[in-house]
Amino acid sequence: MLGLMQDVPLLVSSLIKHADRHHGDVEIVSRRVEGDIHRTTYRELHARARRLANALEALGVGMSDRVATLAWNGYRHMELYYGVAGKGAVVHTINPRLPAEQIAWITQHADDMLLFFDLTFLPIVEAIAAQCPTVKGWVAMTDAAHMPTAAAIPNLLCYEDLLAAQSERYEWPTFDERLASSMCYTSGTTGNPKGALYSHRSTLLHTFAVALPDALSFGARDAILPVVPMFHVNAWGIPYAAAMVGAKLVFPGPALDGKSLHALIEQEKVTVSAGVPTVWQGLLAHMEQNALRFSTMRRTIVGGAALPPAMLRTFEEKYGVTAIHAWGMTELSPVGTVCAPRPKHDDGAAEEQLRVKAKQGRAVFGVDMKIVDAAGKDLPWDGVAFGDLLVRGPWVVSGYFRGEGGDPLVTDAAGLAWFPTGDVATIDADGYMQITDRSKDVIKSGGEWISSIDIENVALSHPAVAMSACIGVAHPKWDERPLLVVVRKAGTSVTREEILRHYEGRVAKWQIPDDVAFVDAIPMGATGKMLKNRLREQFRDHRLPTA
Ligand code: AMP
Repeated sequence: MLGLMQDVPLLVSSLIKHADRHHGDVEIVSRRVEGDIHRTTYRELHARARRLANALEALGVGMSDRVATLAWNGYRHMELYYGVAGKGAVVHTINPRLPAEQIAWITQHADDMLLFFDLTFLPIVEAIAAQCPTVKGWVAMTDAAHMPTAAAIPNLLCYEDLLAAQSERYEWPTFDERLASSMCYTSGTTGNPKGALYSHRSTLLHTFAVALPDALSFGARDAILPVVPMFHVNAWGIPYAAAMVGAKLVFPGPALDGKSLHALIEQEKVTVSAGVPTVWQGLLAHMEQNALRFSTMRRTIVGGAALPPAMLRTFEEKYGVTAIHAWGMTELSPVGTVCAPRPKHDDGAAEEQLRVKAKQGRAVFGVDMKIVDAAGKDLPWDGVAFGDLLVRGPWVVSGYFRGEGGDPLVTDAAGLAWFPTGDVATIDADGYMQITDRSKDVIKSGGEWISSIDIENVALSHPAVAMSACIGVAHPKWDERPLLVVVRKAGTSVTREEILRHYEGRVAKWQIPDDVAFVDAIPMGATGKMLKNRLREQFRDHRLPTA
């Protein structure tokens, strides 16, 4: 017997309709590439998304056609999130930090029909336009006054002109909630990038889940600053979740330095922000140098890479900001786990609470996870056993666009299909997952595994260390031993010996790095992660003193 509830499809357009009707006056503030601060509301944004849908119609965009973006976080990008997906097409966000050839490759693999870009990315568009025959129109996300005049781009269109020529009258169509709404390619450090294709259903379910109190905890009293880019996994779902709950949105545009972020946070009374640790490092350094405080910000969500305990401590103890550690992937829309302490942790010592908060957290409802050994056998949830982390759920990929890379799933003894994340993790008895490492970054010393994240975190707790990366280097006896690569804080002169001494008593003796190499910078990837494969290449012939 079927239930007798209404079969209303879960569609992205319902979020913006809801936002308009129930909190239409709530502000969306953007720092624009044009240099000014722009203010709009959900109601206005909804109207402009409808104009955009009409414009797309006029340009021949049909159901499931791909429409690409190369854009910062801002209201026009959000209009594309809703206008494109709402009309049944697929908004394909491209990471502008990728090399131009890869961007061109991605647009062709995705068969992008139009590409919308912020003026900042004009040089990329000029470089790739000739290699992208599928793209029938290049839309500069600006007004007529700011249009590039001498650009060598065929079919260059002006965003504001497109909208101005259209009516606000548009009825969002109703269709199967399983249709694709957006797509994002993985950064692909090896091989070609692979496309994750999100559906309206997966997006809406993810939105419900991330807004929950022990997840990202968004509400109508919040002013959210997503520093995490809209070009990478839907800015962790914030443009959808904010519309669902009626939070004010504050978009930083291209200005992601500590000074600009702090000014925006204060000016717009931001209550919660979200981003990768490297962004927060810039912000915290700026605040320290200028003796600044936060007057409204209460929480910050940190993910994309491990939250170093030293940073967690600074946020919480020095600035009174709760740092919420979260883990996810492109293949997970992206949120999988979020770290919220349970009541049982309230009475624990401060150190114990910090230890829990440094973990990547508990699975949000909708995501199931487990850890398995090399033979695929389940490992215990004891906080000690570590193994490959597998996940499943309605917002986890079942495959990649165009079947790239074959079937990514593995089937367990019970016949359930799981997505192997490529991360190695422990899970404790309370369900808190902790990433030990990316499986390819873990250092295999003799029969033992050393977590590069643990070793980096100890380095980061040294006051003179700005950044650290730990990689395995070949060793005649132990196969691999850890080498610590360090960027010193400006004006400091810490030595190799001082750093190695810092490890004493903090990790087991055999986990202490064999050597320290000082560099000016650590190579970073397009999504704010350290490129350890590049470092491994650079230090391939490094001779450890113990070798
Ligand atoms: P991406 O698909 O580019 O977002 O990268 C996903 C990967 O980033 C994960 O598989 C992890 O290796 C890493 N990652 C994301 N969040 C965290 C976190 N909180 N701690 C450690 N690693 C993380």
